Amino acid sequence: MGASLTGMDTPLTTTFPTTAFLGLGAMGFPMAGHLAARSRETGGRTLVWNRTPARAAAHAAEFGSVAATLEEAAGADLIVSCLPTSAEVDGVLDAVRGHLKPGSVWVDCTSGHPDAAPEQRARLLEAGVRFLDAPVSGGTVAAKAGTLTVMVGGPAQEIEAVRPHLAFAGKLVRVGDTGAGFAVKAVNNALLAVNLWAAGEGLAILGLRGVELGAALDVINASSGRSNTTENLIPQRVLTRQFPATFGLGLLAKDAGIALDLAEQARGSAPVIAQVTALYRAASRVIGAQEDHTAALKLIEQWNGVELK
Ligand code: NDP
Repeated sequence: MGASLTGMDTPLTTTFPTTAFLGLGAMGFPMAGHLAARSRETGGRTLVWNRTPARAAAHAAEFGSVAATLEEAAGADLIVSCLPTSAEVDGVLDAVRGHLKPGSVWVDCTSGHPDAAPEQRARLLEAGVRFLDAPVSGGTVAAKAGTLTVMVGGPAQEIEAVRPHLAFAGKLVRVGDTGAGFAVKAVNNALLAVNLWAAGEGLAILGLRGVELGAALDVINASSGRSNTTENLIPQRVLTRQFPATFGLGLLAKDAGIALDLAEQARGSAPVIAQVTALYRAASRVIGAQEDHTAALKLIEQWNGVELK
């Protein structure tokens, strides 16, 4: 490898014997497990790094991955990251300067900001590393099952090079150039936020009327008002009063805010997404950013003096 080669001049690696996963949170932990399982089958190895190292040690014990320092992980052929926001990814990019391997590919599965993606790609290209924005959908259930939907922005040739190696993916779609993956993810989650909030308001109205909510959902889910929130999230998490914290309320508020940013940058008109962003920011503050996203409906409950159960 010529040391002077940088950017797109550096040949793209097509085999990825060493993979690395950065960020073993609710999503990253099981996602990295699928990379480790694939490495075992192919004779490669998967390095895992987490800010809190105990999590990486636990991953190594459970999945046979190798707990690594950030510098060691940065030298892998394929790096996958899954952190809260693009700001944390930028922090990690600062820390790995000088430790990256030219020709490698960095796949960022964070639900990041489309504005960050071109800058992150440009920074990595200076070291001869390709960057793909590749957020995921399907939650912790699909992460464990290895059936996540992955929406990727970047050059098709690079996406095809990594496609067989992203063992946590059930469906992987190139949605456009750098940043398009982050944009699609933000809009998808803004739709989740709208559907969840609207269903919460609708059920609060019915609760105030004394209608039994299980029966109401039974009808709605056989009718035109249904969505994933009425079919799954609300019956499983809200009506049971369990609110299991698998996807943070603060993260959903962040995603809606990114969708709103995109609308404003394009001077578009998206009043529902603007409203819902404000509502989830308020819910995140009042109910708690670390609570499950479905706990946003507790704000509707407070305002209406009714419990959705
Ligand atoms: P978690 O809060 O469970 O995990 C966050 C991870 O980021 C942890 O590994 C944490 O490390 C690490 N981290 C936090 N701050 C820093 C930092 N400053 N530097 C380095 N590492 C840091 O988040 P999720 O796994 O739920 O979400 C990750 C991403 O995936 C988000 O962008 C989210 O929007 C998205 N997403 C989440 C889904 C879900 O259902 N949970 C579904 C689809 C997408 P530590 O252990 O040290 O705290």
